[in-house]
Amino acid sequence: MRFLSTRDAAPTADLVQVLQAGLAPDGGLYLAEHIPVLEPDAFAGAHTPAQVGARLLAPYFAGSALESGLSMLCDEAFAQSIPLHALRGAGDHVLELFHGPSAAFKDIGARFLAAALARLRMPDDPLRTILVATSGDTGGAVAAAFHRRAGFRVLILYPQEGVAPRQARQLGAFDGNVQAYRVDGTFDDCQRMVKAALGDAELRTRVALGSANSISLGRLLPQAGYYAWAALTHWRGTGRALSFVVPTGNLGNALAAVIARRMGLPIARIVLACNANDTLPRYFAGEPYATWPGRRTLANAMDVGAPSNFERLRALYSNDAALRADLSAFTVDDDAIVATLHAAAAHHGIEPCPHTATALHVLERLRAQDERGDYAVVATAHPAKFAEVVEPVFGHAVAVPEALARWLARPSHSLPLTADDAALRALLLADPSC
Ligand SMILES: *Cc1c(COP(=O)(O)O)cnc(C)c1O
Repeated sequence: MRFLSTRDAAPTADLVQVLQAGLAPDGGLYLAEHIPVLEPDAFAGAHTPAQVGARLLAPYFAGSALESGLSMLCDEAFAQSIPLHALRGAGDHVLELFHGPSAAFKDIGARFLAAALARLRMPDDPLRTILVATSGDTGGAVAAAFHRRAGFRVLILYPQEGVAPRQARQLGAFDGNVQAYRVDGTFDDCQRMVKAALGDAELRTRVALGSANSISLGRLLPQAGYYAWAALTHWRGTGRALSFVVPTGNLGNALAAVIARRMGLPIARIVLACNANDTLPRYFAGEPYATWPGRRTLANAMDVGAPSNFERLRALYSNDAALRADLSAFTVDDDAIVATLHAAAAHHGIEPCPHTATALHVLERLRAQDERGDYAVVATAHPAKFAEVVEPVFGHAVAVPEALARWLARPSHSLPLTADDAALRALLLADPSC
């Protein structure tokens, strides 16, 4: 399989180049040159998320250096429980993606990418520094995925005022090859600093850099695996297609659902739940696409005004009308998030995180409009990660899952960093190898 940039100005690339590069050299995002459609019997005998994921991804890996390792990569990426259970309302379900090491769905894609890069590493390769800018969940997932992997170190940049206290603790809790830096600026500053370093050709001749952000196809593709598994499991059990409501920020998670549906899986509707950052709801309501600065909300991992994967989503459709016909998006403000958190236990029988609450709220709205069919709300994080938001609403403490508790029990340590491209450059050059 060959891969193309969304901007069409870069040469086509093979899978290994795509996984190692992250971003295409023309600044675009990689997509497979065509999305393969699988026959239903392609999944015969595949029952676990890892097995379904390996069948789904096989066409992308065919002929690459990773072809024979694909099922092992899937075993590693999907080594967490991924329950799909029924909720209280008829036809309502939840797909829980938060049982991994950092208690957010990003663990699955991050572990797949880390395992793939580790497998591609040659014995003489220099130590590779993975740079991540994070407003919370990405940093924890990427750090956990690369922690103690020989040949890699991770530098996490997070805005010192912009992440939840428990997220900050977790980011600082990795020892050894992971170092967290608290930047005296915003998430946008962190992202700009990382982009400047990755785009600095001279710096890259002196320090081996890598990225693992959500535009990397190596994080996106494996996410299609859990949608395929959930839809297939539901279809095998009921004979019906499943629809998904996906809490959405940069569109990486929802795009994986779109890819799984394109590949022939029995997925009906895909609905995006956004917080007050309503770039996508406005577009899907018919307005021209326009981005905005991100605004802070209670669902902070979705505080995105310029969804980075929109370019990729748009490239999958011949025009705006076709895209708008295939997806829908709704905005959920903080008041509605709080109201949903408050009533979720009584209405649905679960206590969600604020991000998952946006999706529950959208499902409630759809049901109120007589929307039929079976739906799964995608639960993107464990509520304990956002204790300061959910606990006052629930009126009680939320037990911390064991994987997360292990990190939180460790001493947390971060270093200060000035919000300046030159500061990161100097840091990397001062110590290119440790
Ligand atoms: C990252 C994140 C999201 C948004 O996912 P995208 O792929 O950026 O759309 C939603 N919820 C949680 C908990 C997240 O960490």
